[in-house]
Amino acid sequence: MTYRPGRHLLQLPGPSNVPDRILRAMHRNTIDHRGPEFQALARRVLDGMKRVFRTEGRVFIYPSSATGAWEAAMTNTLSPGDRVLFFDRGFFAEAWSRVAARLGLEVVKVPGDWRTGVSAADLRAALRADPERRIRAVMVVHNETSTGVTTELPALRAVLDELAHPALFLVDAVSSLAATEYRHDEWGVDVCISGSQKALMLPPGLAFAAVGPRALERSAQATLARSYWSWSEQIRFNDDGYFPYTPATGLLFGLDEALRMLEAEGLETVFSRHARFAAATRSAVAAWGLETYSTRPSEHSNAATTVRVPEGHSGDALRRVILERWDMSLGSGLGPLADQVFRIGHLGDFNDLMLMGTLSGVEMGLRAAGVPHRSGGAQAALEHLSA
Ligand code: PLP
Repeated sequence: MTYRPGRHLLQLPGPSNVPDRILRAMHRNTIDHRGPEFQALARRVLDGMKRVFRTEGRVFIYPSSATGAWEAAMTNTLSPGDRVLFFDRGFFAEAWSRVAARLGLEVVKVPGDWRTGVSAADLRAALRADPERRIRAVMVVHNETSTGVTTELPALRAVLDELAHPALFLVDAVSSLAATEYRHDEWGVDVCISGSQKALMLPPGLAFAAVGPRALERSAQATLARSYWSWSEQIRFNDDGYFPYTPATGLLFGLDEALRMLEAEGLETVFSRHARFAAATRSAVAAWGLETYSTRPSEHSNAATTVRVPEGHSGDALRRVILERWDMSLGSGLGPLADQVFRIGHLGDFNDLMLMGTLSGVEMGLRAAGVPHRSGGAQAALEHLSA
Protein backbone atom coordinates (compact mmCIF):
# COMPACT_ATOMS: atom_id res chain seq x y z
CA MET A 1 0.00 0.00 0.00
CA THR A 2 1.21 3.51 -0.75
CA TYR A 3 2.11 5.70 2.21
CA ARG A 4 -0.56 8.24 3.15
CA PRO A 5 0.91 11.22 4.96
CA GLY A 6 -0.84 12.76 7.94
CA ARG A 7 -3.40 11.25 10.26
CA HIS A 8 -6.29 9.10 9.15
CA LEU A 9 -9.55 10.64 10.41
CA LEU A 10 -11.61 7.91 12.04
CA GLN A 11 -14.98 9.64 12.01
CA LEU A 12 -17.11 6.58 12.61
CA PRO A 13 -19.66 6.81 15.40
CA GLY A 14 -17.18 4.59 17.19
CA PRO A 15 -14.64 3.19 17.32
CA SER A 16 -13.36 6.73 17.78
CA ASN A 17 -9.88 8.27 17.62
CA VAL A 18 -7.68 7.13 20.51
CA PRO A 19 -5.74 10.08 21.98
CA ASP A 20 -1.95 9.87 22.31
CA ARG A 21 -2.14 10.02 26.10
CA ILE A 22 -4.18 6.82 26.14
CA LEU A 23 -1.97 5.11 23.54
CA ARG A 24 1.06 5.93 25.69
CA ALA A 25 -0.65 4.73 28.87
CA MET A 26 -1.31 1.36 27.24
CA HIS A 27 2.20 1.03 25.84
CA ARG A 28 3.75 -0.90 28.71
CA ASN A 29 4.36 -4.42 29.87
CA THR A 30 1.52 -6.44 31.35
CA ILE A 31 1.55 -6.63 35.14
CA ASP A 32 0.59 -9.47 37.45
CA HIS A 33 -3.20 -9.37 37.61
CA ARG A 34 -3.10 -10.97 41.07
CA GLY A 35 -0.59 -8.48 42.47
CA PRO A 36 -0.92 -5.23 44.46
CA GLU A 37 -0.26 -2.83 41.56
CA PHE A 38 -3.12 -4.39 39.62
CA GLN A 39 -5.36 -4.28 42.66
CA ALA A 40 -4.90 -0.50 42.97
CA LEU A 41 -5.55 -0.08 39.23
CA ALA A 42 -8.73 -2.18 39.34
CA ARG A 43 -10.07 -0.26 42.31
CA ARG A 44 -9.38 3.07 40.56
CA VAL A 45 -11.12 2.10 37.32
CA LEU A 46 -14.10 0.43 39.01
CA ASP A 47 -14.61 3.56 41.15
CA GLY A 48 -13.99 5.88 38.22
CA MET A 49 -16.60 4.13 36.08
CA LYS A 50 -19.11 4.54 38.90
CA ARG A 51 -18.59 8.29 38.66
CA VAL A 52 -19.05 8.19 34.87
CA PHE A 53 -22.30 6.19 35.16
CA ARG A 54 -23.26 8.36 38.14
CA THR A 55 -24.06 5.43 40.34
CA GLU A 56 -23.39 4.34 43.88
CA GLY A 57 -24.20 0.80 42.76
CA ARG A 58 -21.92 -1.71 41.07
CA VAL A 59 -20.05 -1.44 37.79
CA PHE A 60 -18.72 -4.59 36.13
CA ILE A 61 -15.98 -4.51 33.51
CA TYR A 62 -15.66 -7.36 31.02
CA PRO A 63 -12.95 -8.07 28.45
CA SER A 64 -15.50 -8.15 25.65
CA SER A 65 -17.22 -6.00 23.08
CA ALA A 66 -20.41 -4.26 24.23
CA THR A 67 -22.52 -7.08 22.79
CA GLY A 68 -21.23 -9.24 25.64
CA ALA A 69 -22.66 -6.78 28.16
CA TRP A 70 -26.08 -7.07 26.46
CA GLU A 71 -25.88 -10.76 27.22
CA ALA A 72 -24.65 -10.12 30.78
CA ALA A 73 -27.55 -7.74 31.46
CA MET A 74 -30.09 -10.37 30.44
CA THR A 75 -28.54 -13.63 31.69
CA ASN A 76 -28.05 -12.17 35.16
CA THR A 77 -31.58 -10.81 35.59
CA LEU A 78 -33.97 -13.00 33.59
CA SER A 79 -35.17 -16.59 33.33
CA PRO A 80 -35.96 -18.73 30.27
CA GLY A 81 -39.27 -17.71 28.69
CA ASP A 82 -39.44 -14.33 30.46
CA ARG A 83 -41.23 -11.72 28.40
CA VAL A 84 -39.15 -8.67 27.50
CA LEU A 85 -40.14 -5.47 25.71
CA PHE A 86 -38.16 -3.87 22.88
CA PHE A 87 -38.89 -0.92 20.62
CA ASP A 88 -38.00 -1.34 16.96
CA ARG A 89 -36.21 1.98 16.66
CA GLY A 90 -32.93 1.17 14.97
CA PHE A 91 -30.30 -1.37 14.08
CA PHE A 92 -28.93 -1.80 17.60
CA ALA A 93 -32.30 -2.15 19.33
CA GLU A 94 -33.05 -4.79 16.72
CA ALA A 95 -29.72 -6.57 17.26
CA TRP A 96 -30.19 -6.58 21.05
CA SER A 97 -33.66 -8.10 20.64
CA ARG A 98 -32.18 -10.89 18.51
CA VAL A 99 -29.73 -11.70 21.31
CA ALA A 100 -32.70 -11.86 23.71
CA ALA A 101 -34.58 -14.25 21.42
CA ARG A 102 -31.51 -16.48 21.05
CA LEU A 103 -31.23 -16.64 24.85
CA GLY A 104 -34.76 -18.05 25.02
CA LEU A 105 -36.61 -14.92 26.13
CA GLU A 106 -40.04 -14.09 24.76
CA VAL A 107 -39.49 -10.88 22.83
CA VAL A 108 -42.34 -8.39 22.43
CA LYS A 109 -41.32 -5.82 19.85
CA VAL A 110 -43.21 -2.55 19.44
CA PRO A 111 -42.93 -1.31 15.86
CA GLY A 112 -42.10 2.34 15.36
CA ASP A 113 -40.55 5.08 13.29
CA TRP A 114 -36.75 4.76 13.22
CA ARG A 115 -36.47 8.53 12.81
CA THR A 116 -37.67 9.18 16.37
CA GLY A 117 -36.87 7.87 19.84
CA VAL A 118 -39.05 5.93 22.25
CA SER A 119 -41.57 8.30 23.83
CA ALA A 120 -43.42 8.10 27.15
CA ALA A 121 -46.62 7.49 25.17
CA ASP A 122 -45.02 4.52 23.36
CA LEU A 123 -44.01 2.90 26.63
CA ARG A 124 -47.33 3.69 28.37
CA ALA A 125 -49.27 2.05 25.55
CA ALA A 126 -47.05 -1.04 25.61
CA LEU A 127 -47.30 -1.46 29.38
CA ARG A 128 -51.08 -0.88 29.42
CA ALA A 129 -51.31 -3.76 26.98
CA ASP A 130 -49.74 -5.93 29.69
CA PRO A 131 -52.38 -5.95 32.46
CA GLU A 132 -51.02 -9.21 33.90
CA ARG A 133 -47.60 -7.59 34.22
CA ARG A 134 -45.82 -10.38 32.47
CA ILE A 135 -43.17 -8.07 31.01
CA ARG A 136 -40.08 -8.63 33.12
CA ALA A 137 -37.80 -6.06 31.49
CA VAL A 138 -37.99 -3.04 29.22
CA MET A 139 -34.96 -2.58 26.98
CA VAL A 140 -34.08 0.78 25.47
CA VAL A 141 -31.10 2.04 23.49
CA HIS A 142 -30.24 5.51 24.81
CA ASN A 143 -28.42 6.72 21.70
CA GLU A 144 -29.29 4.69 18.60
CA THR A 145 -25.95 4.88 16.80
CA SER A 146 -27.52 3.77 13.51
CA THR A 147 -30.03 6.61 13.30
CA GLY A 148 -28.47 9.38 15.39
CA VAL A 149 -31.55 9.54 17.64
CA THR A 150 -31.34 9.86 21.44
CA THR A 151 -34.23 8.67 23.59
CA GLU A 152 -35.11 10.69 26.68
CA LEU A 153 -34.75 8.14 29.46
CA PRO A 154 -36.20 10.00 32.51
CA ALA A 155 -39.59 10.21 30.76
CA LEU A 156 -39.60 6.42 30.40
CA ARG A 157 -38.70 5.83 34.05
CA ALA A 158 -41.57 8.15 34.98
CA VAL A 159 -43.99 5.91 33.04
CA LEU A 160 -42.76 2.75 34.81
CA ASP A 161 -43.26 4.54 38.13
CA GLU A 162 -46.64 6.01 37.19
CA LEU A 163 -47.96 2.53 36.32
CA ALA A 164 -46.04 0.95 39.23
CA HIS A 165 -44.86 -1.62 36.71
CA PRO A 166 -42.29 -4.03 38.17
CA ALA A 167 -40.32 -4.56 34.92
CA LEU A 168 -36.60 -3.90 35.10
CA PHE A 169 -35.36 -0.96 33.04
CA LEU A 170 -32.35 -2.04 30.96
CA VAL A 171 -30.48 0.56 28.92
CA ASP A 172 -27.81 0.47 26.22
CA ALA A 173 -25.59 3.55 26.60
CA VAL A 174 -22.87 2.25 24.29
CA SER A 175 -22.61 5.45 22.25
CA SER A 176 -23.98 7.90 24.80
CA LEU A 177 -21.90 7.28 27.91
CA ALA A 178 -19.40 10.15 28.33
CA ALA A 179 -20.89 11.95 25.31
CA THR A 180 -24.35 12.79 26.61
CA GLU A 181 -25.71 13.22 30.11
CA TYR A 182 -26.46 9.86 31.72
CA ARG A 183 -27.52 9.51 35.40
CA HIS A 184 -27.91 5.89 36.37
CA ASP A 185 -29.21 6.25 39.93
CA GLU A 186 -31.24 9.41 39.47
CA TRP A 187 -32.96 8.02 36.36
CA GLY A 188 -33.78 4.72 38.05
CA VAL A 189 -32.11 2.53 35.46
CA ASP A 190 -31.58 -1.03 36.66
CA VAL A 191 -28.83 -2.13 34.28
CA CYS A 192 -26.93 0.08 31.85
CA ILE A 193 -24.33 -1.31 29.51
CA SER A 194 -21.61 0.39 27.50
CA GLY A 195 -18.36 -0.19 25.62
CA SER A 196 -14.86 1.25 25.54
CA GLN A 197 -14.55 2.33 21.91
CA LYS A 198 -16.88 5.30 21.73
CA ALA A 199 -16.79 8.41 23.94
CA LEU A 200 -14.52 6.66 26.45
CA MET A 201 -11.82 7.11 23.77
CA LEU A 202 -10.33 3.61 24.09
CA PRO A 203 -9.85 0.91 21.49
CA PRO A 204 -12.60 -1.74 21.35
CA GLY A 205 -12.36 -4.55 23.87
CA LEU A 206 -13.99 -3.54 27.16
CA ALA A 207 -17.67 -3.77 28.03
CA PHE A 208 -19.30 -2.23 31.10
CA ALA A 209 -22.46 -2.87 33.06
CA ALA A 210 -23.75 -0.52 35.77
CA VAL A 211 -26.09 -2.49 37.99
CA GLY A 212 -28.53 -1.14 40.55
CA PRO A 213 -29.88 -2.88 43.68
CA ARG A 214 -33.12 -4.17 42.12
CA ALA A 215 -31.21 -5.86 39.32
CA LEU A 216 -28.82 -7.42 41.82
CA GLU A 217 -31.77 -8.75 43.80
CA ARG A 218 -33.35 -10.20 40.66
CA SER A 219 -30.07 -11.90 39.80
CA ALA A 220 -30.46 -14.11 42.86
CA GLN A 221 -33.67 -15.63 41.40
CA ALA A 222 -32.96 -15.41 37.66
CA THR A 223 -32.16 -18.77 36.08
CA LEU A 224 -30.82 -18.11 32.58
CA ALA A 225 -27.52 -19.96 32.25
CA ARG A 226 -24.52 -17.76 32.95
CA SER A 227 -20.89 -18.38 33.69
CA TYR A 228 -18.46 -15.92 32.08
CA TRP A 229 -20.98 -13.09 32.63
CA SER A 230 -21.98 -14.04 36.18
CA TRP A 231 -22.20 -11.02 38.50
CA SER A 232 -21.78 -13.11 41.64
CA GLU A 233 -18.39 -14.28 40.36
CA GLN A 234 -17.40 -10.70 39.47
CA ILE A 235 -18.46 -9.42 42.91
CA ARG A 236 -16.50 -12.11 44.70
CA PHE A 237 -13.30 -10.98 42.99
CA ASN A 238 -13.96 -7.24 42.39
CA ASP A 239 -14.44 -6.65 46.11
CA ASP A 240 -10.76 -7.46 46.56
CA GLY A 241 -9.67 -5.49 43.47
CA TYR A 242 -9.40 -8.49 41.15
CA PHE A 243 -11.31 -10.27 38.38
CA PRO A 244 -12.46 -13.89 38.16
CA TYR A 245 -10.33 -14.43 35.03
CA THR A 246 -7.41 -12.79 33.26
CA PRO A 247 -8.45 -9.17 32.73
CA ALA A 248 -7.55 -7.02 29.71
CA THR A 249 -4.79 -5.27 31.66
CA GLY A 250 -3.56 -3.15 28.74
CA LEU A 251 -7.02 -1.71 28.15
CA LEU A 252 -7.44 -1.07 31.86
CA PHE A 253 -4.24 1.06 31.80
CA GLY A 254 -5.92 3.00 29.00
CA LEU A 255 -9.19 3.27 30.91
CA ASP A 256 -7.34 4.64 33.93
CA GLU A 257 -5.92 7.40 31.72
CA ALA A 258 -9.27 8.03 30.00
CA LEU A 259 -10.92 8.53 33.39
CA ARG A 260 -8.18 11.00 34.38
CA MET A 261 -8.79 12.93 31.15
CA LEU A 262 -12.58 12.97 31.55
CA GLU A 263 -12.29 14.12 35.14
CA ALA A 264 -9.76 16.82 34.29
CA GLU A 265 -12.08 18.20 31.60
CA GLY A 266 -15.20 17.67 33.72
CA LEU A 267 -18.15 15.57 32.55
CA GLU A 268 -20.41 18.61 32.08
CA THR A 269 -17.82 20.25 29.83
CA VAL A 270 -17.42 16.98 27.93
CA PHE A 271 -21.19 16.86 27.31
CA SER A 272 -21.42 20.48 26.19
CA ARG A 273 -18.43 19.97 23.88
CA HIS A 274 -20.25 17.06 22.22
CA ALA A 275 -23.51 19.04 21.99
CA ARG A 276 -21.66 21.92 20.32
CA PHE A 277 -20.06 19.63 17.70
CA ALA A 278 -23.41 18.01 16.98
CA ALA A 279 -25.09 21.41 16.51
CA ALA A 280 -22.28 22.63 14.24
CA THR A 281 -22.57 19.42 12.19
CA ARG A 282 -26.32 19.90 11.80
CA SER A 283 -25.76 23.47 10.65
CA ALA A 284 -23.45 22.08 7.94
CA VAL A 285 -26.00 19.46 6.91
CA ALA A 286 -28.74 22.11 6.65
CA ALA A 287 -26.50 24.42 4.62
CA TRP A 288 -25.71 21.57 2.21
CA GLY A 289 -29.47 21.25 1.73
CA LEU A 290 -29.35 17.68 3.06
CA GLU A 291 -31.44 16.16 5.82
CA THR A 292 -30.53 14.54 9.12
CA TYR A 293 -32.19 11.17 9.61
CA SER A 294 -33.32 12.17 13.13
CA THR A 295 -36.41 14.35 12.91
CA ARG A 296 -37.22 15.55 16.46
CA PRO A 297 -34.89 18.40 17.48
CA SER A 298 -34.86 17.33 21.15
CA GLU A 299 -33.66 13.85 20.12
CA HIS A 300 -30.73 14.71 17.84
CA SER A 301 -27.68 12.74 18.95
CA ASN A 302 -24.68 14.54 20.41
CA ALA A 303 -22.40 11.66 19.46
CA ALA A 304 -23.15 11.11 15.77
CA THR A 305 -25.20 12.58 12.95
CA THR A 306 -26.86 10.33 10.40
CA VAL A 307 -27.35 12.12 7.08
CA ARG A 308 -29.73 11.05 4.31
CA VAL A 309 -28.30 10.79 0.82
CA PRO A 310 -30.63 12.18 -1.89
CA GLU A 311 -32.70 9.60 -3.82
CA GLY A 312 -30.73 7.90 -6.58
CA HIS A 313 -27.34 8.50 -4.89
CA SER A 314 -25.17 6.15 -2.91
CA GLY A 315 -23.94 6.73 0.63
CA ASP A 316 -21.38 3.97 0.20
CA ALA A 317 -19.96 5.48 -3.01
CA LEU A 318 -19.62 8.80 -1.18
CA ARG A 319 -17.81 7.17 1.74
CA ARG A 320 -15.52 5.34 -0.67
CA VAL A 321 -14.50 8.55 -2.45
CA ILE A 322 -13.86 10.28 0.88
CA LEU A 323 -11.71 7.39 2.11
CA GLU A 324 -9.72 7.14 -1.12
CA ARG A 325 -9.12 10.86 -1.62
CA TRP A 326 -9.05 12.30 1.89
CA ASP A 327 -8.23 9.31 4.07
CA MET A 328 -11.28 9.68 6.30
CA SER A 329 -13.65 6.92 7.44
CA LEU A 330 -17.33 7.73 7.91
CA GLY A 331 -20.01 5.37 9.22
CA SER A 332 -22.13 3.40 6.77
CA GLY A 333 -25.89 2.95 6.78
CA LEU A 334 -26.79 -0.13 8.84
CA GLY A 335 -29.50 -2.68 8.13
CA PRO A 336 -32.32 -1.20 6.04
CA LEU A 337 -30.45 2.13 5.93
CA ALA A 338 -27.55 0.61 3.96
CA ASP A 339 -26.37 2.99 1.22
CA GLN A 340 -29.19 5.47 2.00
CA VAL A 341 -27.37 7.40 4.71
CA PHE A 342 -23.86 8.11 5.93
CA ARG A 343 -22.94 8.74 9.55
CA ILE A 344 -20.57 11.38 10.89
CA GLY A 345 -19.08 10.47 14.26
CA HIS A 346 -18.21 13.50 16.43
CA LEU A 347 -17.51 11.80 19.72
CA GLY A 348 -14.65 11.09 22.04
CA ASP A 349 -11.31 12.88 21.81
CA PHE A 350 -12.35 15.53 19.34
CA ASN A 351 -11.92 19.27 18.91
CA ASP A 352 -13.08 22.17 16.74
CA LEU A 353 -10.41 21.77 14.09
CA MET A 354 -10.90 18.01 13.85
CA LEU A 355 -14.59 18.70 13.24
CA MET A 356 -13.75 21.29 10.60
CA GLY A 357 -11.45 18.78 8.88
CA THR A 358 -14.22 16.20 9.00
CA LEU A 359 -16.89 18.50 7.57
CA SER A 360 -14.50 19.83 4.90
CA GLY A 361 -13.83 16.23 3.89
CA VAL A 362 -17.56 15.53 3.65
CA GLU A 363 -18.14 18.66 1.56
CA MET A 364 -15.29 17.83 -0.83
CA GLY A 365 -16.61 14.27 -1.01
CA LEU A 366 -20.14 15.39 -1.85
CA ARG A 367 -18.68 17.38 -4.74
CA ALA A 368 -16.37 14.58 -5.93
CA ALA A 369 -19.10 11.93 -5.74
CA GLY A 370 -21.59 14.14 -7.60
CA VAL A 371 -24.12 14.15 -4.73
CA PRO A 372 -26.42 17.15 -5.24
CA HIS A 373 -25.87 19.72 -2.50
CA ARG A 374 -25.23 23.42 -1.94
CA SER A 375 -21.71 24.44 -0.95
CA GLY A 376 -21.16 26.32 2.31
CA GLY A 377 -21.81 23.59 4.88
CA ALA A 378 -18.30 23.70 6.29
CA GLN A 379 -18.55 27.50 6.34
CA ALA A 380 -21.82 27.30 8.29
CA ALA A 381 -20.19 25.02 10.86
CA LEU A 382 -17.26 27.41 11.10
CA GLU A 383 -19.66 30.28 11.85
CA HIS A 384 -21.37 28.12 14.46
CA LEU A 385 -18.11 27.19 16.16
CA SER A 386 -16.75 30.71 16.18
CA ALA A 387 -19.99 32.34 17.38
N1 PLP B 1 -25.18 -0.82 21.01
C1 PLP B 1 -24.93 0.32 20.34
C2 PLP B 1 -25.83 1.49 20.52
C3 PLP B 1 -23.83 0.38 19.47
O1 PLP B 1 -23.57 1.50 18.80
C4 PLP B 1 -23.02 -0.77 19.31
C5 PLP B 1 -21.88 -0.76 18.39
O2 PLP B 1 -21.65 0.17 17.64
C6 PLP B 1 -23.33 -1.92 20.04
C7 PLP B 1 -24.42 -1.90 20.88
C8 PLP B 1 -22.53 -3.16 19.90
O3 PLP B 1 -21.27 -2.93 20.45
P1 PLP B 1 -20.03 -3.88 20.12
O4 PLP B 1 -19.83 -3.81 18.65
O5 PLP B 1 -18.91 -3.28 20.92
O6 PLP B 1 -20.39 -5.24 20.57
